[in-house]
Amino acid sequence: VLCLPLLLCGCAQKSAEREFFAMDTVMQLRAYGPAAEDALAQAEAEIYRLEGVLSCRDEQAALARLNETGGGTAGEETAALLQTALTLCEQTGGAYDPALGALSEAWGFSTGAYRVPEPDALAEAMQSSGAGLVQLDGISVTLTNGAQLDLGGIAKGYAADLLRAQLEKEGVTSATLDLGGDVFVMGRKTDGSDWRIAVKDPADTESYLGVVSAADKFIVTSGVYERYFEENGVRYHHILDPKTGCPAESGLVSVTVLCENGAWADALSTACFVLGPDGALALRDDLADQGTNFELILATDDGRVLYTDGLADAFTPNDESGYTYEALA
Ligand code: ADP
Ligand code: MG
Repeated sequence: VLCLPLLLCGCAQKSAEREFFAMDTVMQLRAYGPAAEDALAQAEAEIYRLEGVLSCRDEQAALARLNETGGGTAGEETAALLQTALTLCEQTGGAYDPALGALSEAWGFSTGAYRVPEPDALAEAMQSSGAGLVQLDGISVTLTNGAQLDLGGIAKGYAADLLRAQLEKEGVTSATLDLGGDVFVMGRKTDGSDWRIAVKDPADTESYLGVVSAADKFIVTSGVYERYFEENGVRYHHILDPKTGCPAESGLVSVTVLCENGAWADALSTACFVLGPDGALALRDDLADQGTNFELILATDDGRVLYTDGLADAFTPNDESGYTYEALA
């Protein structure tokens, strides 16, 4: 999402940069100021630590062990994040669901053994999927029916929240964190202007839908281009509709969420993708009534880009993208 060339730093200040592979994606961190170097080293270490806790692939990870044993006692951190995930599941009417591990596995998204599951296998995976099979009591987790937790739709956003807090503690006030489509821009550029973040064109990731200006914001994108496979000429992507157990076909090809909280931004981008344009906008209204505000940039499968009123000034469409743009009232 983050097209680095667009993040012109405009700074004579000391800066540091780190690029590494973690949580199944390439991460790029950049920070400014005298504390930058040390802070980013710590940030990278923190990502590896988290990966070791929240992975459902690494058998040693605490989350994978809970899946293996049908539950048990979770660490405080895992339990707290699971609680957030369950809350988001409820708030999104189940469109975001942290217990779709069995389905992800049936499609091979969690293992890399991609395939369209046979109807029987799909039905069986459905029986073992859904937050209804998860019970969380303090730090005690029970997974019924072989349910498998998969925090892949929230983990990177949560990680961004943690890194933000860590950088703040280290005295960093200006930074950009790109955790593979989950972006946090901290403060402003060192010249005092807003960051400019390019939103990728899901049909051509060398191109972009537009540019968002932002400061102190999480900008998280879920798109069909992140992970998919093709079978018999059909493309199957990795965002599953909990209702069907299949890749969501909601009329959207990408969703970008801007909000003040990383974990929420991440889960909401996945949920909005599943819900489709009308459902996503309805969810935005619902959550606004409850005091949670977020903005949306939606790309539809018929070539339109819709963006919400809070972005009227902040989003600049790319006139050469071939999309038509609709600023929502
Ligand atoms: P990305 O991983 O590309 O950043 P998302 O944030 O949308 O994209 O997360 C997708 C991941 O979340 C999938 O790889 C899978 O692990 C998990 N997932 C897929 N569908 C759902 C869903 N409906 N609710 C919650 N998690 C999901
Ligand atoms: Mg997400």
